[in-house]
Amino acid sequence: MFIKDIISSKKLSISFEVFPPKNDMPLDGVYKTIGELAELNPDFISVTYGAGGSSKGRTIEIASTIKNKYGIEAVAHLTCATSTKEEINNILSELKDNGIENILALRGDIPDGFKISDNLNYKYAKDLIGEISERKKFSISAAAYPEGHTECSSLEDDIRHLKEKVDCGAEVLITQLFFDNNKFYEFKEKLYKHNINVPVITGIMPVVNRNIIERIGVLSGAFIPQKLKNIIDKYENSPEALVDAVIAYSTEQISDLIVNGVDGVHIYAMNKSAVAKRIMKNIKEIRKAINS
Ligand code: FAD
Repeated sequence: MFIKDIISSKKLSISFEVFPPKNDMPLDGVYKTIGELAELNPDFISVTYGAGGSSKGRTIEIASTIKNKYGIEAVAHLTCATSTKEEINNILSELKDNGIENILALRGDIPDGFKISDNLNYKYAKDLIGEISERKKFSISAAAYPEGHTECSSLEDDIRHLKEKVDCGAEVLITQLFFDNNKFYEFKEKLYKHNINVPVITGIMPVVNRNIIERIGVLSGAFIPQKLKNIIDKYENSPEALVDAVIAYSTEQISDLIVNGVDGVHIYAMNKSAVAKRIMKNIKEIRKAINS
């Protein structure tokens, strides 16, 4: 089923993201996580695509397991920055053969030593989106950045580029993680002004480790509110207390988003199910009430 149809059939979608382990690592760990996430009854699970296509076989294999073994809709991420048309064609055929109907179409990060102008086929995600859209076989999602993409000089320009992705065929947007809901609400207002009306799924990452949160803040450009910094400072030497406090923070963030009518919440599960499980338990009745 297309995720755009799943989203339009309910008031709130809940989804998770997993990533393929490195090519020399076994898949057992991620499959165990998926089995546990499946028990939380998500509307879809998305599988990332390694930079430069480093995990392409694994992304398809994992997405196929989610769909065909667990009966949960899978969204395969696909990047194009370093791809040829032939490679993209082959991957689309493989996805189709495996019953995958949903793609998150991305440009991907530009690897060191590579210039985007080197790729004559795909400079931006919109080029890939347009090409997939022509086939009319997949529902296409695209990435959105409530605080602006790190390469773009202004949020306004980035939103204009986002509109191009929607005009080329993106039917659903999934956001970069954010820790401050006000950044998302301001962004949503701007989307209306730019006539971007497709569903927007909000990306939430419960980060339970100081180093990771600092690195993610830098890489994603996400603003880290003082409230979250205080939590990390207070409990950095008490890992279990930090987990409790971050789960409480993410639960509050998600509850507020739901009260404010978001289309969906996408939890960056980091290949671990325990935190996602606890958050889902916290919002169990809210989820039931919203979709009843
Ligand atoms: P684009 O939409 O092409 O934008 C890239 C930059 O180009 C932006 O700054 C944009 O403003 C600018 N731009 C776009 N169009 C134009 C134009 N016409 N003229 C001038 N500038 C333009 N990466 C992975 O490698 N694998 C993954 O699985 C993955 N999953 C992700 C999932 C989500 C939900 C998100 C938010 C990101 C994910 N990423 C992933 C990261 C993503 O690949 C990077 O952020 C990448 O740098 C941008 O990809 P994009 O599709 O947003 O690019």
